[in-house]
Amino acid sequence: MNGESTINPTGVNELFQLLRDGVPRTRAELAKATGLARSTVAARVDQLMRMGLISPVAEAVSTGGRPPSLFALNPAAKVVIAADVGASHATVAVTDLNGTVLADQSEPLDIALGPEPVLNWLVEGATALLARVGRDRSQVAAIGIGVPGPVEHSTGLPVNPPIMPGWDRFDIPGWLNQHLDVPVLVDNDVNIMALGERAVAWPGVEHLMFVKIATGIGAGLISGGTLLRGAQGVAGDIGHVQVARAADVACRCGNRGCLEAIASGPAIARTLRDQGVDARTGSDVVDLVKRGNIEAIQAVRQAGRDIGEVLTTCVSLVNPSVITIGGSMARVGEHLIAGVRETVYTRSIPLATEHLSIVQSAAAERAAVIGASMLAVEHVLSPEALAVGFR
Ligand SMILES: [Zn+2]
Repeated sequence: MNGESTINPTGVNELFQLLRDGVPRTRAELAKATGLARSTVAARVDQLMRMGLISPVAEAVSTGGRPPSLFALNPAAKVVIAADVGASHATVAVTDLNGTVLADQSEPLDIALGPEPVLNWLVEGATALLARVGRDRSQVAAIGIGVPGPVEHSTGLPVNPPIMPGWDRFDIPGWLNQHLDVPVLVDNDVNIMALGERAVAWPGVEHLMFVKIATGIGAGLISGGTLLRGAQGVAGDIGHVQVARAADVACRCGNRGCLEAIASGPAIARTLRDQGVDARTGSDVVDLVKRGNIEAIQAVRQAGRDIGEVLTTCVSLVNPSVITIGGSMARVGEHLIAGVRETVYTRSIPLATEHLSIVQSAAAERAAVIGASMLAVEHVLSPEALAVGFR
């Protein structure tokens, strides 16, 4: 795309940030909202159309004469590669600028193979998917990736990730840029799930907490519309907070009494085995609950109460309006959430819970890939990136 030199970035950005919500607007509405002159708006709308970022949509209702045209974000202008790399499973997708998945593929993939085999798989998968949807590499605006460990946000480097051997401080963006020279955004999986959940189910919500309950337990926090990452990217790592009932139970982190040691999928399975119920994994627990096994239902509900204990503190700290419960253990449904609600609503101050919803994740297994896409799109369409020029 050329012609950036003729663009006044500030003015274009102002208009574009308005149009990004997908709501079609006329030139007159844009002039009113930005306070810019009609002639200036007309020129900048033309510039954004030449960049392919906005396009005319249906005609507005006219009061007479020529109907004014409506403009909105053109989600097909570019595509984004979004990937969710889990501990033992990976998904790669091609999405449009709205985060709509155009094509995707998922495979069992062990993250312990190390960065190069995993990232090679990602590049090959993305190349095949681009061909499938009839787009080429020049149309890729950015890559967003979620990984199951802490990530230093400013550099995209995983930092001491406990279940990712060989990935510590590996330069994921640098490696991928040898294959595809576009911005690469890396974040931990729970953060991108929070972004994905909000995009799918809570687009207007500014204060949202996504809690992943699976082999581990973690949370992604959106506060004031922004992801809270903290200094080292570990904000929301609530799995190793001490809870009363865990007391002397040993945790895989080396400490005792962690939330994860009694409320994660494997921990609930262990509790059930101690009661003589045949459960090896979190998946077994889900199956037992779905079959109506009373011991399993009680154990899951208790895990919900324990998680609620930690979430009560989170509610006091960040005052979310929505808590969504996701991850593989969320498939047990209402029993787990009922336990969470029981504690949070009883223990929190009434003002914090008066308008607080605690619900199951709506995006479910799609949350991570959609969130990885949103992470990339947010970067590409940010005023700062647009000022540099839309590639
Ligand atoms: Zn621990």
